[in-house]
Amino acid sequence: MTTNMAERSRTAETGSATGSDDIIAGNVSKYIVLPAAYSGQPKKGHLIFDACFESGNLGRVDHVTEFEYDLFIRPDTCNPRFRVWFNFTVENVKESQRVIFNVVNFSKTKSLYRDGMAPMVKSTSRPKWQRIPSKNVYYYRCPDHRKNYVMSFAFCFDREDDTYQFAYCYPYTYTRLQHYLDTLQRRNMDYFCRELLGLSVQKRRLDLLTITSPANLRPGAEQKVVFITARVHPGETPSSFVCQGIIDFLVSHHPIAKVLRDHLVFKIAPMLNPDGVYLGNYRCSLMGFDLNRHWANPSPWAHPTLHGVKQLIIDMYNNPKINLEFYIDIHAHSTMMNGFMYGNIFEDEERFQRQAVFPKLLCQNAEDFSYSSTSFNRDAVKAGTGRRFLGGLLNDTSYCYTLEVSFYSYILGGPASAVPYTEEAYMKLGRNVARTFLDYYRLNSLVERPLGTTPKTRKDKLPHFKCAAQRGPGNSHAGSKPEKRSQAHLKDQSLSTR
Ligand SMILES: [Zn+2]
Repeated sequence: MTTNMAERSRTAETGSATGSDDIIAGNVSKYIVLPAAYSGQPKKGHLIFDACFESGNLGRVDHVTEFEYDLFIRPDTCNPRFRVWFNFTVENVKESQRVIFNVVNFSKTKSLYRDGMAPMVKSTSRPKWQRIPSKNVYYYRCPDHRKNYVMSFAFCFDREDDTYQFAYCYPYTYTRLQHYLDTLQRRNMDYFCRELLGLSVQKRRLDLLTITSPANLRPGAEQKVVFITARVHPGETPSSFVCQGIIDFLVSHHPIAKVLRDHLVFKIAPMLNPDGVYLGNYRCSLMGFDLNRHWANPSPWAHPTLHGVKQLIIDMYNNPKINLEFYIDIHAHSTMMNGFMYGNIFEDEERFQRQAVFPKLLCQNAEDFSYSSTSFNRDAVKAGTGRRFLGGLLNDTSYCYTLEVSFYSYILGGPASAVPYTEEAYMKLGRNVARTFLDYYRLNSLVERPLGTTPKTRKDKLPHFKCAAQRGPGNSHAGSKPEKRSQAHLKDQSLSTR
């Protein structure tokens, strides 16, 4: 990789690195783009591109004209099929310098760019990410690039001393996660535990968080477990914001969070593919594997993080004291709006209906979550996913979902009103996911008493609870005393906090 970058820098100085389709192996490193015929020293306005930093991705830059540059995404390591995520800096700009950047080698054709999505930008003097105005973004089939889809955007640099950074979506790096978890650990909360579940191929941490009241971890205690994972696909950065929103809520002083901790054990693996995240890949691990297609038979040396998580889940499944009730794997979607879920199809119609309850409840709590986009499938291509594999393994009172959230926006009241997601909006979806567990378990306690009052929801309308009313996961031990006590407690608390 180092050699490659050195060669690239050399060719840049001679100005001949344009037009060819040679293999892109590494990220550009302080790469100075000079006009083809230029032989002097670089001047102000000769842009310098860099992607040699954590989660960086830019493989090549071609000088088209003084105002126009072709940019090539560096494919995922060991897997040239995936080219979507980009994240790079530009410096040495002139004030009022206008440019058009063409990202010419996306591996996908359908894209939210058609619906108004735009790249993100920030600069040293304005460190908050902003979206480039969508009127400056064009997405089209380009005859100059083998009819590939090209995303072009116009940009005007305005401060000479600034370094500008452009990215596909809000970055969320491995280091950011580590800092966040370090901060949580320093709070010394007795209901929060962070452990090292394993290491990636490049020896990065696979963190596992346990959030629950200490009483639930006493030897012999029965546990209802909610298992959550994120970032198996490294370019899907919104999943980390959603996951952080869930964690923030669960460790908070919010009364609902306390009730949830008292009755449930949350196990969270916030970054399943730390190497892919670090490297700036979109979909794969260091070795080029889409880890979400290897749940059936993960190898301890080729897919160690996946292997570690799967082993833990199987150990929990084999433990009679543990009831793994929910598994949710968080992703981001490159062509759909809103948050939504994928679930499994079962022969048993009642189980299938019960599975629809959680997404229906979430839809009532989160304005950006769409139940109508939620779907249930058993496509062969998704057979190796966590949701599909665990749906087949776990018993019929467990629910496995993929939670998807748009890379771009959610719709409020009609297609004309797309609201672009912010980091905060992604985290809010996470908080809403967390609080929906209370609604779910409260519903199960209410339906044991058919004459009880109807739960009040934000939108004040109920989904069809018919099947959940007959039997929900919480009711599998419906006769046992701790269960009844906990459900009554759940209900009382929730009503007092709404
Ligand atoms: Zn994904």
